[in-house]
Amino acid sequence: RQVVFGIDIGGTNIKSGIVDASGSILHTDNTPTDARSGRDSLLDKLYAIAGRYKEIATAEGWEASGMGVATAGYVHAREGRIGYATSNLPGWTGVPLRANMERETGLPVALVNDAHAFAIGEAWIGAGKELGGFLCITLGTGVGGSWITPEGVPYYGRDGYAGGYGHIVIQHGGQPCNCGLSGCWEQYASVTALMRMAGEAGIGESETGGSAKKLFELARSGHPQALELIDRYAEYVAVGLTSLTHILNPSAVIIGGAVTAQGDFLFDRIRGSASQMMMPAYDPVAIIPAALGEHAGLAGAAKLAWLAGEGR
Ligand code: BGC
Ligand code: ZN
Repeated sequence: RQVVFGIDIGGTNIKSGIVDASGSILHTDNTPTDARSGRDSLLDKLYAIAGRYKEIATAEGWEASGMGVATAGYVHAREGRIGYATSNLPGWTGVPLRANMERETGLPVALVNDAHAFAIGEAWIGAGKELGGFLCITLGTGVGGSWITPEGVPYYGRDGYAGGYGHIVIQHGGQPCNCGLSGCWEQYASVTALMRMAGEAGIGESETGGSAKKLFELARSGHPQALELIDRYAEYVAVGLTSLTHILNPSAVIIGGAVTAQGDFLFDRIRGSASQMMMPAYDPVAIIPAALGEHAGLAGAAKLAWLAGEGR
């Protein structure tokens, strides 16, 4: 059996897995990114995961033919390095990650932005399987995105930097962002922003324990400030999503990230706000949750490794 390894480096967790050519995920792991420990510590974690996966593959009698690595940050596609990473991943800017991983593992490595990988995964075996083109948004530590064209592949732009939707400015002179700009969508629509706004609304850590899940529980139980905050958060999500829909005219929008587990409680609010903001000329666009949960990114990275293998 031939397999590839997929790794997805987010601001909070590193998700990884071993994936076969049909998209079956044979093994997965999840470990804290611990980004604050810096670049070398993060590289060591990735090397350790790859080393362990090679051992597992050998023990199972699987042949590993490549690896896909997805990471938050602007990934320079041709050069295989991180062109720019915000301070969510300190020290990550400039890292020649593809060469590093190839040297360490002896495997061919495909490197890609995490949100592009997420969308590729959803297009391959998730909520986008039956769709032609779609827009994908990820709400997590940051906000990421990818536009899967009607041909079924991400639009990467000249260098691979297309899809930096988290840093479109929705509020001129607004909240300072980890990227160096201010007023970025990410500062209102990420889960990090949601928890910041909870604090500002007087819903402290003593009530939420710093957990978005707990915040949603409060809202569901009728906590007035929490409910008002979730309404506002959904509006912020809809603001960026509406602009992107106006630009791209997608057939559907797939939203990923842990908050999508909240289902219609969150999605109906996003849909409601978006339908109020959307130009009347646009037919209502389907806004749906991702299907693969936290495995979408690693699956998409793996898919790229398979595609790269076909091209060799
Ligand atoms: C980064 C993107 C990334 C997104 C989701 C943003 O802060 O700039 O590159 O895709 O977070 O992780
Ligand atoms: Zn920004």
